[in-house]
Amino acid sequence: MSRASPISRRRRVSLSSTRAAAFAPATLTIDLSALAANWQLLRDRASPAECAAVVKADAYGIGIEPAVRALWGAGCRTFFVAHLSEAGRVRTELPEATIYVLNGLLPDAAPGYPPGKLRPVLGSAEELRDWAAFCDSEGARLPAAIHVDTGMNRLGLPPSEAIALRGDPLLTHFEPALLMSHLVAAEVAQDPVNAAQIAAFAAIRSAHPGIPGSLANCSGLFLPEAPMHDLVRPGYALYGGNPTPGRPNPMRPVVRLEARILQVREIGPGDRVGYNGRWSAPGRRRVATLSVGYADGYPRVAGATDADAEAGLDRGAALVGGVLCPFVGRVSMDLIVLDVTDAPASEAKRGGTAVLIGDGLDLDEVGRRAGTIGYEILTGLGRRYARRYVGA
Ligand SMILES: *Cc1c(COP(=O)(O)O)cnc(C)c1O
Repeated sequence: MSRASPISRRRRVSLSSTRAAAFAPATLTIDLSALAANWQLLRDRASPAECAAVVKADAYGIGIEPAVRALWGAGCRTFFVAHLSEAGRVRTELPEATIYVLNGLLPDAAPGYPPGKLRPVLGSAEELRDWAAFCDSEGARLPAAIHVDTGMNRLGLPPSEAIALRGDPLLTHFEPALLMSHLVAAEVAQDPVNAAQIAAFAAIRSAHPGIPGSLANCSGLFLPEAPMHDLVRPGYALYGGNPTPGRPNPMRPVVRLEARILQVREIGPGDRVGYNGRWSAPGRRRVATLSVGYADGYPRVAGATDADAEAGLDRGAALVGGVLCPFVGRVSMDLIVLDVTDAPASEAKRGGTAVLIGDGLDLDEVGRRAGTIGYEILTGLGRRYARRYVGA
């Protein structure tokens, strides 16, 4: 597939990025100055602990290269990704950055780490031994993080094993650069699991006084106990998500999603909308069709059915002329239908604009209306939107 001649490749690029963007039916605007400001707000909150940035999953969907350039410009020097392939992309942009790979070390994966450049987060005795053996073969004590599982039961050493590592010669074969754990429910400040994890992690750290520690994700930064340790690892809040659900969002919005209206039609009582006619009009309605669908990452279940209406569930919605217009019928692959009866006719027309994320319809609200969380909306943002980066 990389056989295309330079000429045909150039022609393809000009078609997709220049002309198509001008007529884009849906545009995703990403504000890199808001991203930088959000990182700086969290840095100030965490200080004197260092503030890293979690940029896994293509920087939560906004594009890892522009995101890490903006974060580096703001002063961020430590980055966390999930996959080694993502680490390579950060390394290419930022040769000086410290980069941790959260998802641990598969058997035989150690040689995939360029010496001293990328740091695995080791989560089991086997992973520790593999990394130690790799360091021996390289003749260097290479840095890595040690992940301890204090409640997620997902990745990491059990606390007892982590404590028993005290004085283990294994730790002399590599450089234990960070001791970390991950909070299960930091966004629910009153959940007692927070205090239990904070205490468990403090006990583990006291067994390893020489190793810097890291516990807090973005919501962890806002817990009353503020378990900052030496390094904090915010993700979602950097991208505008609310780290304190149910309380005002201290972060600036980073993403804005707008779609143009393709068609508007009048329908009568009982007329059905979308596949399988899952929604029927309660009266005369004006409905508008947008060029966004589940193939763009907008969840199919965000569209209201008659059953949702009966249950009083508020499903997905978009703002047209500042008026909140509910989705009607399930979301299709490439299309969403809105009830625009209450929107001003000056905007609710062919070519008009609907705001799907933005103007107070924030990520958390969009996630809630789709029966999920803002994280999933953000990381699912499709590749088909015309992407516009501002504030670089
Ligand atoms: C994803 C992740 C984070 C970032 O969490 P947010 O809730 O997005 O701030 C931090 N640490 C680990 C281990 C993670 O997997």
